Amino acid sequence: MIEMIRILKHFLQVSLRPTHASREALTMWQSRQFLQFASRTLACSPYYKNYTTRPLADYPLIDKATWVDNFDEINTKELKGRTLFDIALNSEQTRNFEVTKGDIAVGLSSGTSGRRALFVTDKSERAQYAGTILAKCLGKNILKPQRVALLLRANNELYETIGGSRIKFQYFDLQRPWTEILEGLQAFQPTVMVGPPQVLALTAQAQLTGKIKLRPAKIIASAEVLEKKEQKEIENVFRISVDQIYQATEGFLGVSCRCGTLHLNEDSIIVEKQWIDRNTRRFVPIITDFVRTTQPLIRYRLNDVLIERENQCPCGSLFTAIEKIEGREDDILFIQNKESSPKLVPVMPDFVRDAMALSADTICDYRLVQHSFDRLEIAVEGPQIDQARYKATQNLKGLFNSLNLKMPELIFAETITSDMHVKLRRVRRLFPMAEVFEWNAS
Ligand SMILES: [Zn+2]
Repeated sequence: MIEMIRILKHFLQVSLRPTHASREALTMWQSRQFLQFASRTLACSPYYKNYTTRPLADYPLIDKATWVDNFDEINTKELKGRTLFDIALNSEQTRNFEVTKGDIAVGLSSGTSGRRALFVTDKSERAQYAGTILAKCLGKNILKPQRVALLLRANNELYETIGGSRIKFQYFDLQRPWTEILEGLQAFQPTVMVGPPQVLALTAQAQLTGKIKLRPAKIIASAEVLEKKEQKEIENVFRISVDQIYQATEGFLGVSCRCGTLHLNEDSIIVEKQWIDRNTRRFVPIITDFVRTTQPLIRYRLNDVLIERENQCPCGSLFTAIEKIEGREDDILFIQNKESSPKLVPVMPDFVRDAMALSADTICDYRLVQHSFDRLEIAVEGPQIDQARYKATQNLKGLFNSLNLKMPELIFAETITSDMHVKLRRVRRLFPMAEVFEWNAS
């Protein structure tokens, strides 16, 4: 009960947060929040304690590897990474997520981008997280009883906090057999479904073929890039629009508004933009969370590429509006230019997606991997494989030609191996960014 009161407190705090008159007022409010946070929380972090009187810009810029390597110094509760890592691994293997250490809950990131990161939260942060999710995703719907189905790859105590008589959360472990998950959903009859787009699309297919009969009032896509095709499929079957939350190990970073636009949660994070290309409004976000206390996240460079929306969202929110989450940086291809300089040019994954979508009737699905600057491997699926391969080749040739790039050698892989437990990446690059810089400098 105390837990529920805490959650409610945070729910109200988020719902009643001041609205700001302008972007400048918001920025000033953020700075004040950060200063308070620094003196209260960062003073307890050996990694940050010498910075607390300095402006944010003086703090070191960090990436995931640095964050993981310095876990012991960064956290504010003298926690030891090695011990917690063992606890987290064990809880994942036994799929028993009740395991905690004191009031600290321990989780591991899914590790699609290499290293697995440890993330820890205490009781009050979990209540805060629950209250924020409820306020931002359910809003007034919280007044009606809700059954929320969370379809997730790995559970964490974080997700189990929210449960009472009116609002029930049930977690569906995606490592269980799919038929078992469907039976569970049918029995639970969720009013809200949250999950990766790929899994929501599979649920829509099951509904379409009569395997399940659900009537959710809200569907929220989380965790990975929501593609237009999947979004339409899900919306057509369930006849409601799909909302999006932008969430990572690094926290709850954004949510879509009533107009369907994704806004960054700038009432709890400060976002610095590292521009990749100002003309196309693409940037890598550097985030500073001024709410998270156990494991601070300060000037942390995410591995995502975001496209900022060109015009202000009609909803009137001052929070940065995002046109699209472009996925991992690794998903940008680098292809040889027909001109001499620069030698390698970035090709954004949505160009590839759009090119493939030109033949949506022939190419049902595909995976593209760039092994080196002049070699691509592609696996396609379609009613007629030869036709699908032919179309894929033509579409890629057309794409690269229109960008004035040389067509790399194209190799066909036999089958698409897809794994529900792993984040879906249709476009991947296997050689490091450092090679690109070297090539272009030579
Ligand atoms: Zn909006």
